[in-house]
Amino acid sequence: MSFEVELDPRKCNGCEECIEVCTADVFDMRNGKSIAVNPKDCVGCLSCVEICEQEAIAVEETGVKLSNTCAALLRDIL
Ligand code: SF4
Ligand code: SF4
Repeated sequence: MSFEVELDPRKCNGCEECIEVCTADVFDMRNGKSIAVNPKDCVGCLSCVEICEQEAIAVEETGVKLSNTCAALLRDIL
């Protein structure tokens, strides 16, 4: 199973919460914004989507984009 990680630099405020929460070290900071430097290492835990208050992160698997709300619902179910 593989995942795609997308970030919206217009929404990112550089809080670095996603870097702290991601155990797969997918994110790094560039010019005050988070970018996905190791997207192939994403395990789809959705912690970054849930923690990002700016809703700047989307994690995609088999063509399905998960919003903050969807991620929270999935985490409740799983
Ligand atoms: S948690 Fe969101 S706002 Fe904070 S650095 Fe990551 S992408 Fe940017
Ligand atoms: S879904 Fe999990 S493993 Fe993937 S980038 Fe977000 S926090 Fe890291």
